[in-house]
Amino acid sequence: MTNTANPGLRTGIPGPAAQRLGLRRERAVADGASSLLPVYTESGGDGVLIDVDGNAFIDLGSGIAVTSVGNPAPKVTEAIREQAGRFIHTCFMVSGYEGYVEVCEQLNELTPGAHDKRSVLSNSGAEAVENAVKIARHATGRSTVVVFDNAYHGRTNLTMALTAKNMPYKHRFGPFAPEIARVPMSYPYRDPHGMTGQQAAQRAIDRIRTQVGAENTAAVLLEPIQGEGGFIVPAPGFLPAIAEWCRDNGVLFIADEIQTGFCRTGSWFACEHENILPDLITTAKALAGGLPLAAVTGRAEIMNSVHRGGLGGTYSGNPIACAAALAAIDTMREQNLVAAAAAVEETTRPRLDALAQRDDGIGEVRGRGAMLALEFVHPGTGRPDPERTARIAAHCHRAGTIVLTCGTHDNVIRLLPPLTIPAQTLVEGLDTLEAAVAEC
Ligand SMILES: *Cc1c(COP(=O)(O)O)cnc(C)c1O
Repeated sequence: MTNTANPGLRTGIPGPAAQRLGLRRERAVADGASSLLPVYTESGGDGVLIDVDGNAFIDLGSGIAVTSVGNPAPKVTEAIREQAGRFIHTCFMVSGYEGYVEVCEQLNELTPGAHDKRSVLSNSGAEAVENAVKIARHATGRSTVVVFDNAYHGRTNLTMALTAKNMPYKHRFGPFAPEIARVPMSYPYRDPHGMTGQQAAQRAIDRIRTQVGAENTAAVLLEPIQGEGGFIVPAPGFLPAIAEWCRDNGVLFIADEIQTGFCRTGSWFACEHENILPDLITTAKALAGGLPLAAVTGRAEIMNSVHRGGLGGTYSGNPIACAAALAAIDTMREQNLVAAAAAVEETTRPRLDALAQRDDGIGEVRGRGAMLALEFVHPGTGRPDPERTARIAAHCHRAGTIVLTCGTHDNVIRLLPPLTIPAQTLVEGLDTLEAAVAEC
C-alpha cells in the first residue's frame, strides 16, 4: 500500500467480516443490485464510514449526494427519533400532518423565484420526475417531453425513457414510454471548439422545432449540471437560452435538481448560477439527510392545474422523512452549507487542476462547488478511457477513500463529499486520489 494510504484501514479490503457478508449476499441478494465497494458499513462519522472490519473509509461520495449534512447528522437523528416516538405513518391522502406542510413551505421558499409556488412530495427522485411529467402534460395538454444527451432521470419505466445511457440503466428493460425526444446537450469539452452556450441551445431548439414542434412539447426537462452523465456543466448562456425559448413557446422548463440541489454546487440550487427560474423543479437526494423523500415544486397555477386526488401515493411524504428533511434544511442554514460547498471547491479544484496539468490523460476538470469531476481520456485522441478510470477508483477504494465514477462513457471520477466533511479529512481523501492517479 502507498504511504498515502488511509491510516484508518485495519485489514485488506474487503476484510474477513466483509467477505463473510459477501458470501451471504451472493446467496440472498439479486445480482442486479450490485455495489461499487465490496465492504459493509457498520457506522458513520465526520466524513467517514466505518465498515464491519473496523476500517474507516473517507467518504467522498455521500451515498451519491445524499448525506450532505453528515452521516449521521445529530439534528436529523434526533428529529427521526422524536417523530418515530409520536407516529410513523398516516398516509397523507388519508390525513395530513404538519411536517408535510412545512416541508412544502420550505421548498417553496428555498427554490428559485419569489413567485407563488406549491409542492407535492414523493418517495424517490424518479417518482418526483414522473410527477413533474404528469403535471406538465396535464397543465399544457401536450405530450412530448424533451430531454438531453447524457441525461439521467431515474430507473422507472418513464424515467428510463428519459435517461440516456443504455448500460446498465436500460439494457433489455424496454419497451419504454413513448413521446420522449432526445436532443444534444451543451458539453463544452466535446462540442466543436468555441461553440457558445447560445449556439448549443440553438442546436437543441432547431431539433425540437423540426422533429417535435413547440406546440406538441409539454416540457423541456434538464439537469442544470448533469450528474450521472458526467458532471457536465453546460456552456454559459445555454440554460438561459433554453429557458427563454420555453417561455416564448408555452413549453414548461423543468429543472431536475435532484443531485445538484440543497447547497451542493455552492448555492441552494444550481439554477441560481445563471438566474434561471424553472416552472417546475424536482428535488430528492440531499433533501431529507438520508431518508427517502422527493418533491416537485413549481408555479402555483401549474401545480394546481391537476385535479384533486391526481397526485399521491401510500408512503409519499412519510412523516419521519419530513421530520428528517426539516432537520436537514435547518442544518444547511445553521451551518451555512452553501459556504461549505464553496470551501470544498476552494480546497479541491486547485489540486485537481494541478493534477490535470501533470497528466495528459485528464481531459477536463469541471463542476461547481462540492460537485467536481475529472474526465479521463486517451492522450492525443480525447477518446474516453473507462479502463483507467475504473483502475483509479478501485485503487482509491483499496486505499480507504470512497470515490464514485460516472459518465456516459464511464470515464469520469466524481467527488461529492459531505458538505460537513472536516477540512483535514477532505485533504487526506484528495491525497489518496492523487496517489491513485499517479500510480495508475
Ligand atoms: C438520482 C437522480 C434521479 C433519481 O433519483 P432516485 O431517488 O434514485 O429515483 C433523478 N434525477 C437525477 C438528476 C438524479 O441524480
